[in-house]
Amino acid sequence: MASELEPEVPAIDQSLLECSAEETAGKWLQSTDLTREVYQHLAHYVPKIYCRGPNPFPQREDMLAQLVLLGPMEWYICGEDPAFGFPKLEQANKPSHLCGRVFKVGEPTYSCRDCAVDPTCVLCMECFLGSIHRDHRYRMTTSGGGGFCDCGDTEAWKEGPYCEKHKLNTSEIEEEEDPLIHLPEDVITRTYNIFAIMFHYAVEILTWEKESELPADLEMVEKTDTYYCMLFNDEVHTYEQVIYTLQKAVNCTQKEAIGFATTVDRDGRRSVRYGDFPYCEQAKSVIVRNTSRQTKPLKVQVMHSSIVAHQNFGLKLLSWLGSIIGYSDGLRRILCQVGLQEGPDGENSSLVDRLMLNDSKLWKGARSVYHQLFMSSLLMDLKYKKLFAVRFAKNYERLQSDYVTDDHDREFSVADLSVQIFTVPSLARMLITEENLLTIIIKTFMDHLRHRDAQGRFQFERYTALQAFKFRRVQSLILDLKYVLISKPTEWSDDLRQKFLEGFDAFLELLKCMQGMDPVTRQVGQHIEMEPEWEAAFTLQMKLTHVISMMQDWCALDEKVLIEAYKKCLAVLMHCHGGFTDGEQPVTLSICGHSVETIRYCVSQEKVSIHLPVSRLLAGLHVLLSKSEVAYKFPELLPLSELSPPMLIEHPLRCLVLCAQVHAGMWRRNGFSLVNQIYYYHNVKCRREMFDKDIIMLQTGVSMMDPNHFLMIMLSRFELYQIFSTPDYGKRLSSEITHKDVVQQNNTLIEEMLYLIIMLVGERFSPGVGQVNATDEIKREIIHQLSIKPMAHSELIKSLPEDENKETGMESVIEAVAHFKKPGLTGRGMYELKPECAKEFNLYFYHFSRAEQSKAEEAQRKLKRQNREDTALPPPILPPFCPLFASLVNILQSDVMLYIIRTILHWAVEHNGYAWSESMLQRVLHLIGMALQEEKQHLENVMEEHVVTFTFAQKISKPGEAPNNSPSILAMLETLQNAPYLEVHKDMIRWILKTFNAIKKMRESSSASSVAETEGTITEESSRDKDKAERKRKAEIARLRREKVMAQMSEMQRNFIDENKDLFQQTVAEEASNSAVLDNSPMVSDTTLTALGPAQTQVPKQRQFVTCILCQEEQEVKVESKAMVLAAFVQRSTVLSKNRNKVIQDPEKYDPLFMHPDLSCGTHTGSCGHVMHAHCWQRYFDSVQAKEQRRQQRLRLHTSYDVENGEFLCPLCECLSNTVIPLLLPPRNIFNKLNFSDQPNLTQWIRTISQQTKALQILRKEESIPNIASSKNSENMDELQLPEGFRPDFHPKNPYSDSIKEMLTTFGTATYKVGLKVHPNEEDPRVPIMCWGSCAYTIQSIERILSDEDKPLFGPLPCRLDDCLRSLTRFAAAHWTVALLSVVQGHFCKLFALLVPNDNYGDLPCILDIDMFHLLVGLVLAFPALQCQDFSGISLGTGDLHIFHLVTMAHIIQILLTSCTEENEMDQETPAGEEELAVLALYKTLRQYTGSALKEIPSGWHLWRSVRAGIMPFLKCSALFFHYLNGVPSPPEIQVSGTSHFEHLCNYLSLPNNLICLFQENSEITKLLIESWCQHIEVKRYLEGERDAISYPRESNKLIDLPEDYSSLINQASNFSCPKSGGDKSRTPTLCLVCGTLLCSQSYCCQTELEGEDVGACTAHTYSCGSGVGIFLRVRECQVLFLAGKTKGCFYSPPYLDDYGETDQGLRRGNPLHLCKERFKKIQKLWHQHSITEEIGHAQEANQTLVGIDWQHL
Ligand SMILES: [Zn+2]
Ligand SMILES: [Zn+2]
Ligand SMILES: [Zn+2]
Ligand SMILES: [Zn+2]
Ligand SMILES: [Zn+2]
Ligand SMILES: [Zn+2]
Ligand SMILES: [Zn+2]
Repeated sequence: MASELEPEVPAIDQSLLECSAEETAGKWLQSTDLTREVYQHLAHYVPKIYCRGPNPFPQREDMLAQLVLLGPMEWYICGEDPAFGFPKLEQANKPSHLCGRVFKVGEPTYSCRDCAVDPTCVLCMECFLGSIHRDHRYRMTTSGGGGFCDCGDTEAWKEGPYCEKHKLNTSEIEEEEDPLIHLPEDVITRTYNIFAIMFHYAVEILTWEKESELPADLEMVEKTDTYYCMLFNDEVHTYEQVIYTLQKAVNCTQKEAIGFATTVDRDGRRSVRYGDFPYCEQAKSVIVRNTSRQTKPLKVQVMHSSIVAHQNFGLKLLSWLGSIIGYSDGLRRILCQVGLQEGPDGENSSLVDRLMLNDSKLWKGARSVYHQLFMSSLLMDLKYKKLFAVRFAKNYERLQSDYVTDDHDREFSVADLSVQIFTVPSLARMLITEENLLTIIIKTFMDHLRHRDAQGRFQFERYTALQAFKFRRVQSLILDLKYVLISKPTEWSDDLRQKFLEGFDAFLELLKCMQGMDPVTRQVGQHIEMEPEWEAAFTLQMKLTHVISMMQDWCALDEKVLIEAYKKCLAVLMHCHGGFTDGEQPVTLSICGHSVETIRYCVSQEKVSIHLPVSRLLAGLHVLLSKSEVAYKFPELLPLSELSPPMLIEHPLRCLVLCAQVHAGMWRRNGFSLVNQIYYYHNVKCRREMFDKDIIMLQTGVSMMDPNHFLMIMLSRFELYQIFSTPDYGKRLSSEITHKDVVQQNNTLIEEMLYLIIMLVGERFSPGVGQVNATDEIKREIIHQLSIKPMAHSELIKSLPEDENKETGMESVIEAVAHFKKPGLTGRGMYELKPECAKEFNLYFYHFSRAEQSKAEEAQRKLKRQNREDTALPPPILPPFCPLFASLVNILQSDVMLYIIRTILHWAVEHNGYAWSESMLQRVLHLIGMALQEEKQHLENVMEEHVVTFTFAQKISKPGEAPNNSPSILAMLETLQNAPYLEVHKDMIRWILKTFNAIKKMRESSSASSVAETEGTITEESSRDKDKAERKRKAEIARLRREKVMAQMSEMQRNFIDENKDLFQQTVAEEASNSAVLDNSPMVSDTTLTALGPAQTQVPKQRQFVTCILCQEEQEVKVESKAMVLAAFVQRSTVLSKNRNKVIQDPEKYDPLFMHPDLSCGTHTGSCGHVMHAHCWQRYFDSVQAKEQRRQQRLRLHTSYDVENGEFLCPLCECLSNTVIPLLLPPRNIFNKLNFSDQPNLTQWIRTISQQTKALQILRKEESIPNIASSKNSENMDELQLPEGFRPDFHPKNPYSDSIKEMLTTFGTATYKVGLKVHPNEEDPRVPIMCWGSCAYTIQSIERILSDEDKPLFGPLPCRLDDCLRSLTRFAAAHWTVALLSVVQGHFCKLFALLVPNDNYGDLPCILDIDMFHLLVGLVLAFPALQCQDFSGISLGTGDLHIFHLVTMAHIIQILLTSCTEENEMDQETPAGEEELAVLALYKTLRQYTGSALKEIPSGWHLWRSVRAGIMPFLKCSALFFHYLNGVPSPPEIQVSGTSHFEHLCNYLSLPNNLICLFQENSEITKLLIESWCQHIEVKRYLEGERDAISYPRESNKLIDLPEDYSSLINQASNFSCPKSGGDKSRTPTLCLVCGTLLCSQSYCCQTELEGEDVGACTAHTYSCGSGVGIFLRVRECQVLFLAGKTKGCFYSPPYLDDYGETDQGLRRGNPLHLCKERFKKIQKLWHQHSITEEIGHAQEANQTLVGIDWQHL
């Protein structure tokens, strides 16, 4: 009981309130021993203020602390009232130009991609908006908390370091000015005194480790012994575990446990029990026991309450210090001095050191408080920032070790401050030179990775969980390394050189431990038993990739450093390779008269490793030597003579051969770990420092050796030497069928080897290898990515390696190579390769994966075919090599190469005798092409008198040498050109021959006259032209033929559709406009069409045939036949609601008869329009149900639909449905009796109906009195004067077949069940009301959509809507036949009584509180129940017409009463028309009846105008209603959009154009009616301004307005705190797009109970705001969330796009986002159409993982 109430607040000790801060401060000023005095004060008061009970009272504690504890200190510092003192200090202060705003969690931060020195430099929103960067290319992220704004830091920005606000003072600032000069001397002394004492006190108490004993000077005299059982946070136990344990241990409710757990998670600790020692100790033991099973137990301490009190005050004190120093930079300086002053214990004894070194022992809350203080003090003071940085560096090793063993996230560790320090260039440089920081970081890192193998390499195999955990944490050190290296030095001192190289040494040590780690050996025979661990090594490589690149960047900046680094790296590599030539005798290889010695080594038999970081670093440095030209400037300084090319290439070559062999399937038995490694080796995340560098290393080696030698070594490593050195080896092999696998393997290996040669010669786009710059490199990368397919910006970014300017680099070239295509309503913006860039396409681009290569090949060939070009994909023209690599091209014309080419061509010529493959040939052709391109380039660029030594063309025209005297390569190509089995390569061969001829001519022309050359080109040109012309002609013929065929086909299609119109209409669900076909039939094309009343246009009976989608049988829709049904979905809706606060409290008692005009909760029915037999559907549904039950038993899976609730998917379109609507013919035709010519007018009719209803009421009353037996009934009836022709005892026969009747009941019950959220009960009297309501509501919602979109009322409606409305209306009209007649009559009487007063009903709502359309539908559809007993000759049509007129009049009065015609300024002076005079007269009457409470008469023009506007929606809805009810076609005028159609509507609805005539024609009765309506008390209250009423026309609901710039949403959300946990920032702020409420979603704190289940804030909100359906924007994720009910939900693409036309779900890329209005409209449309649930259903069907999400917890 008590726990339910607010916890009792203990009374405040009066003595505390009487404390005077001024007096205390005065005492202190007099004191000789200030420390003792202050400590005594604290010892006395702190336990009196804090920790007075089980629960904290933060507000009261803060108030008292300020009064008793902090107030005196402030007085003391100021020496006067701080209210005056601090503002004085503030004024005297020259504020810093640093912003330094510390970020809250979720706050937006901005970084300028153009000007930020590194990506960690960020601005707060305010500074950003006031900076020049807002017009630059910026990136936006949300802060994870911690970190501060870098505005004003000149080191952080290349340009514009100050925003407008912080710029103000820059001119006055002198760097070295001491801020203390702005403080009075005495203030300095006092501040120093009190800061020293208080800071010391805080540090001492926070790091105090005893549990029940205070520091001696804080011990109290009178000590009360109360304790807390304190629970601490760890990252091991889950929320659920903690909650569960607490419930058991301290016997609390789940809610309390959740509260405790939330606080522990947030603050790091929370007391869970208060009392004496044993009481707390007992709780502790339960917690420890309960949580120690699998893991280490939760940390719990039983602490004396006074210790906790002092610690709480300690934290308060630190925050206080942080705010006090905000007044003046001088105060800040003093605090820094106090903090960094060395204590009595020497080294590491300053307060700052003590805090840092105890960091991992402190709880989360304490850590973040002091981290924040550090940030606002030490890091904001330029002088002390340096000193602090030194302290941090000196303690670095210790801090990191503490962090590695601690289990809290990095953001809660002081080690995380490294980013604030190391990224400041001047500090980083200072720490490197003075504290040797590089070396410290690397050594610390290595110290934590002690697991090595015999060779001293890292060993990650058999890695324990603990080691893995440690490894994960230790990776943050690599991040520190990265920070230090981010900003490169602009100038080098000798000190810096020395220290950098020292660090480089350490780094090489690290790489050495990686060189050759995780080696693999090929598994033969059986499959490996256990997949070896490989991820750790790759993680390390991946994390280091960036650092390795940056190391090289640093080396590139200084020649001396580069030379030294190169030497060091080479020495380490040689050390690694020590003994690499040892062992067996070398072997000698020889081909074509060349021979070379090499070691024996077989990749397929011996150990090989994919990790070679030392070789790769050397390769990188080698390229730098070339790029910076150091190699040419100081060759004597370089150890070039020590380079042994065979040694350099050996390991990279092995690695590449390993890849080839894996690809050839030779390593299958080694499992997936190897496949994965190879994947990452080539992947964009690693390749820059792995694969790419291996290629460069080979290029380096080859450029220094005889290419023939290299090729032979390569053949040997590929294990192909034998094949090529032994003539006819291939022939023999292929003849032996048993070796099929081997043949296949060898073929692949040969292909791979050729590919490698192509890469070695062709890959020259790294600056330093080829004569290119970084732009060329990135351009080529992009061209090749876009050759595969057009790509979105983010896709492209992902395919590029990560480096600091990857995006800016890309953006500088993208315009040159691609066109941007904007996105549509879905999808993304795309970049498309410019056609002129296609010629730079290289089929063998080395970064293509195999899949990408074949896709690109296909795409490029297709493009060429489309352009009617030949399909050859020749190698592109390449840039020249740098001199250091220039000799590489000679591979192409080397003897061994030519030999290989010739051999393969030979195989191809004799294609049946040898094993060869087409890809092999294709690569050979490519190589030949490359060689020819090379030679052509050489010839074109040749300087005078130089001889081109590249003579490939000449070499290939010579026949082969002895012994086999094969034909020349050229001759073989000519043969192959005509080979029928090489059709695909024909174009390429042709291209080669053509290029060959061109070269020949160039060679000749250098000697012969130039005339011949031009002639030659001309003839060639003309023949090419002819070729082209011929192709064109053929293409034209083909096109004409195609068009003809298309025309024929569409003609056939049209005929088919005409013939099968009905079928088509039913099966094609999509937006077909044929639905109007029936209505437009020529038979009824008369001039005026009337939808209702005695004059209703008579429509010839139409037979309707439909086909069942389940059994495909056709059937006619008839009254007596079996029911046909439409799949339908009924849902509650608030889409039209004008009052979202209204909820139905008790659905069981709720009376839905009268719909309020705020339409706060309606029932909507939708359908996909698919028709089934009722019995076919029944069978289908039963089977779905059975299947679902089986499935639930087997695996407790959810589906996207809830079978228990009657949900199923339409068998054809999978649209979510929950019931079916029967198809019916217009029901009025069945019940309409003969038309009598003599029909009553309105007055007579009202009189008759009144009599009838009264008679019925009397009858019902009598029936309900049980005493009067049925025998008496007849007598009474006689007594009662029954109106003429009225026979209440008559019961008409139901004309429908049983099957239809059943379906009428089914749908009616479903509407009732869903609409009211009650249990189904087909006999409930409210069932018919719900059916009519759903009909009315659905029509209203469709009318709204049409009006909002400016669509005509009877324009082409989508088929499914048309079908749905028709069946829904007809169903609602027929439903009374299955309900109790008396019930429906009762409803009619009550509805009727609302308009025509009847004494029997006392408390009917007033006409202001009635939705007239709902009333109209109810009356019209209930009327037959009365009319069927009326034999006086009044027709149904007459009744409809009078009801309609009556309701229309009521609506007009409603409009007049509520129209607020304030705008008198535009009075119409023209003579008033007939309508205006009439409405003016009516208004006068109205004023008369309301006792002139109505406003003074505005002009008739205004009145008429508001009546017309106000009544339009009602008229439109009525037109739709009667159209579907009676089947009268709509007048053609309303089928097109245009002016308001008021007159047409009136004609169609049998209304006079001057609506007021309705009143005039029946003035007698209408006056009575108006009088009775106005007499209602509510009308009076309204007119007297005591209440509100809905006015007309009702405006359409819209989703809320969203800001154009997404960051303002983020900002808004970052200021939003959880409404339940006292000012805490919400982690998942989520915006309701319907009403604009911000919610704290997906969090325990805001869970509430809904229908017995805990649900998150969003789900809870949907129940009040959208009756179960919700549309939200998750602000942090930039993601739209759809929810429906508790189990359904999906994410939807947000309406925000970046400049590249892409959404950013999850805000990962951080590009500025802007509202896309069209996409937002689309979401709004889904909402208006009631399609949210359907959308969720489709999303869940498409993506099963969505089904498993606990949507109700969001
Ligand atoms: Zn700022
Ligand atoms: Zn600023
Ligand atoms: Zn900028
Ligand atoms: Zn069927
Ligand atoms: Zn369907
Ligand atoms: Zn809402
Ligand atoms: Zn919350």
